[in-house]
Amino acid sequence: LGAHASAFAVEWIAACESSNTELLGRDLPGDERLHVLVVDRQLAGRGRRGREWQSFDGGSLTFSVQWRLPPAGTAPQGLSLVVGLAVARALEDSGVSGVQLKWPNDVLVHGRKIAGILIELVARQGRTAAAVIGIGINLRLPEGVRIPGQAAVTDLRHELGDGAPDRAGLLAAILSQLRGLLETYAAAGFGALRGAWEQRNAFADLPVRISGDAGSACGACIGVDDDGALLLHTEQGARRILSGDVSLRPM
Ligand code: ATP
Repeated sequence: LGAHASAFAVEWIAACESSNTELLGRDLPGDERLHVLVVDRQLAGRGRRGREWQSFDGGSLTFSVQWRLPPAGTAPQGLSLVVGLAVARALEDSGVSGVQLKWPNDVLVHGRKIAGILIELVARQGRTAAAVIGIGINLRLPEGVRIPGQAAVTDLRHELGDGAPDRAGLLAAILSQLRGLLETYAAAGFGALRGAWEQRNAFADLPVRISGDAGSACGACIGVDDDGALLLHTEQGARRILSGDVSLRPM
């Protein structure tokens, strides 16, 4: 994978149900901070709240990264936004234009979903010790595929044609971005990356509806704060929405 990815231990396997599930059960050796597990065929990829992430043989890049949190103990606020930014920048470095981020965890190209991110936390001795970061990217979707719940999807091949990087090339580009951004995030928090995220906000100043277990809210999307929470301008005034299991939809 070249020098950029050298700080990662990278493991590549032929098949598994879910790369996140595989890594959730792992305890990294003492000197390892980041462990990457790439899977050729993911058989039962997961999204948030029991939703499904669909992978296609030879047409998807699917991997997970276990990141040992420095320091352990606190929930990593805004991490899914940092990961989205790493994927967005890697796609841009590969030549994709129109890359946008949809709070809290999707990567779009001109409004079409190209990648999904699932972050799950690992607790050890009652403390949050690590995050497992799952990333799935569409490289080449089957002709005419329909994905339930998604009006518009895209893939790298559609965006770049023959110039699209191969799986190893795209993986190296993402890991390189991720390594740098996680360092910044660990040192300075999400606030240091907020501007870069907001530049790519797919719904900046647009009306959106947020829904989740705690109810729903509608308003104009103002941006995000230093914790990665979404800021909405509603009829009742400003609202701050923490990125739990909530979904955002355009209105
Ligand atoms: P949404 O994009 O609907 O807001 P979400 O962010 O709330 O989704 P996630 O857990 O991130 O939910 O992603 C799961 C959803 O992604 C699935 O419900 C499905 O609609 C969509 N999806 C699944 N596989 C793919 C894929 N290969 N490409 C694009 N979208 C997919």
